[in-house]
Amino acid sequence: MKVIAIDGPAGSGKSTVARRLADRLGLDYLDTGAMYRAVTFAALRRGIDPSDADDVARLAARLDLDVKVDAVTVDGVDATIEIRGPEVTRAVSIVAAIPAVRAELVRRQREWAAARDGGVIEGRDIGTVVFPDAVLKVYLTAAAEVRASRRSQEVSDLAYDVVAADLARRDALDAGRDVSPLAQASEALVVDTSERSVDEIVDELVTRL
Ligand code: C5P
Repeated sequence: MKVIAIDGPAGSGKSTVARRLADRLGLDYLDTGAMYRAVTFAALRRGIDPSDADDVARLAARLDLDVKVDAVTVDGVDATIEIRGPEVTRAVSIVAAIPAVRAELVRRQREWAAARDGGVIEGRDIGTVVFPDAVLKVYLTAAAEVRASRRSQEVSDLAYDVVAADLARRDALDAGRDVSPLAQASEALVVDTSERSVDEIVDELVTRL
């Protein structure tokens, strides 16, 4: 199985780089952040408190999740747009810190990879926990201001300061949680994307395979 693991904080360029790399290599691409967002979306929609670990875990276990490159469906409802919205973004790190939710989604991620003999998979714990045997582990970083300004361009209806504060809070939760925190795998190739083009980065990754 050939898994390429792309980890890093929000706004580090994971999705752009991972999609381009997958295209280049003719591999499938999985956005595991979209899976945590989809569970959060489903919880909010049903009025479940995102910090209620038991209820959210029960929900995650029976959710029909379909995460494709450009469309995310949750129990038959198209959630592609809403999983990127401010309500889900605010609550997702709380949901992602629930151990039973992680266990369920990690199981589904491994199933996804096994079914197609690998792929390019992005997240926070892909190289460290989900696929420790990945053929290539990449950890993307970028200066905090660069990450915040990328995100604020994506969500143009929120002020830069609000986006920057949200991002810092989410990073702290993701890096500080007990289970599978955001971390660099010791053997990961660390790439600072602040001042490099996507093509340049993808070229470098291809040479590492
Ligand atoms: O990548 P994205 O910003 O969409 O991820 C949303 C959230 O999902 C992250 O802030 C993190 O809390 C969670 N996540 C995670 N583990 C992953 C991918 C995402 O905990 N592998």
